Amino acid sequence: MIRFDVLIVGGGLNGLAMALALGGKACRRPLKVGVVEKGDPRWFADPAHDSRATALTAASIAMLQAMGAWPAMAGLTQPMRKVIVTDGKSPEARPPLLSFLNEGEMAPAVFFENHVIFKALLEQIEASPSISILTGQAVARFSFGPGLASLVLENGQELKAALIIGSDGRGSPARQAAGIGLDRWPYEQSAITLTVGHELPHDGCAEEHFNPDGVFAILPLSGNRSSLVWTEPHEKAKALCALPDAEFLGELSSRFGSHRGRLSLLTPHHAYPLAMQLAKSFTAPRLALIGDAAHVVHPLAGLGLNLGFKDSAALADCVMEASALGQDIGGGAVLEAYERWRRFDTLTTAAMMHGLHGLFANNNESLRLLRDAGLRMVDKIAPLKRLFQQEASGLGGALPRLMRGLAA
Ligand SMILES: Cc1cc2nc3c(=O)[nH]c(=O)nc-3n(C[C@H](O)[C@H](O)[C@H](O)COP(=O)(O)OP(=O)(O)OC[C@H]3O[C@@H](n4cnc5c(N)ncnc54)[C@H](O)[C@@H]3O)c2cc1C
Repeated sequence: MIRFDVLIVGGGLNGLAMALALGGKACRRPLKVGVVEKGDPRWFADPAHDSRATALTAASIAMLQAMGAWPAMAGLTQPMRKVIVTDGKSPEARPPLLSFLNEGEMAPAVFFENHVIFKALLEQIEASPSISILTGQAVARFSFGPGLASLVLENGQELKAALIIGSDGRGSPARQAAGIGLDRWPYEQSAITLTVGHELPHDGCAEEHFNPDGVFAILPLSGNRSSLVWTEPHEKAKALCALPDAEFLGELSSRFGSHRGRLSLLTPHHAYPLAMQLAKSFTAPRLALIGDAAHVVHPLAGLGLNLGFKDSAALADCVMEASALGQDIGGGAVLEAYERWRRFDTLTTAAMMHGLHGLFANNNESLRLLRDAGLRMVDKIAPLKRLFQQEASGLGGALPRLMRGLAA
């Protein structure tokens, strides 16, 4: 039996960030942290594994800086200089309904490919002696006390800790083992993701085109490259993904438009079924859920991972404070404080994303006219636009230490 202060189930982006928040070498008093991951996180840092990119908010970047992971990523940034929102229609004629031009020094969000974020987190974890990663074995059994919580791996090895953190994705075995229910709304859509190259520069402009079948988002990456989130009903997405590359590129080009010259496929494409889901509670005795294990939102505003990073930063505040006072880090007071901080915040964001999705994924002509008029109005009112931009930077609301750039 091996004893840790905290055990994290799942070494995805949220699990790795959580490990650094509690046991990284930049922490004031690092805890002894074990991460159990059934796959191999080094493969996660391979571009072929995950073709997604993430728009990291200013708050998430402050957190990566405070955890020491930022220098490994800093040279690969693509700041968001402009955002254009249209209601789709023809790729050759889609006048913006809403546009944001960022003229400040700091962009509200910066784009990265997910494999770049994985690599930076893994390098910092390897340099942190308080963190152990146990790979290649799934958790087979959970026990949440009384006394310490424990995990039994598939090979029979037993691990114990005062607190288990479930960062094991949308199907979360930890959530299920604790008997926590789930509210779920499937969207009947899949998002195809990939990176493309183009002849002409994007100048840091992100585009979101709301077609009735789903959003087509073009997100700028460093160089003449963009990451795409191309949403279609499941069957159509499946058929598109089965096409030979040349035909797939033809379909893609007809939606992308010709404004950036000729396109080329730079990565394999993956399709992700979309849903909104929210755990009925983010905690149970000696268990806290973070990231997709706690909540999944529609990717239309690029907030999922940023919400997960905020979970980690907030939970780190609650746990580190209890640890400094010599209190039980997996006790009721810590779990209640985390639940209060994160569940309401996430509920509000999830409801907003759900509402926006309903408004945009709609073919009702009157609703589309009303929505377009509303967006054009927002576009003309400067304080409203500033409010949107502050929300996009993740700097609104109560910020945990890490998101203020302070060590946990
Ligand atoms: C198309 C798309 C685009 C997106 N774009 C953005 C964006 O622009 N911005 C943004 O902020 N977010 C975005 N998101 C959301 C974001 O990608 C996810 O929220 C995030 O990747 C979830 O990470 P996670 O670590 O919580 O879960 P996961 O990545 O699912 O990781 C869970 C891990 O747990 C492991 N695991 C599961 N069960 C066990 C077990 N029993 N034992 C051991 N290990 C286990 C799994 O192997 C896995 O590695 C997007 C999502 C999608 C689908």
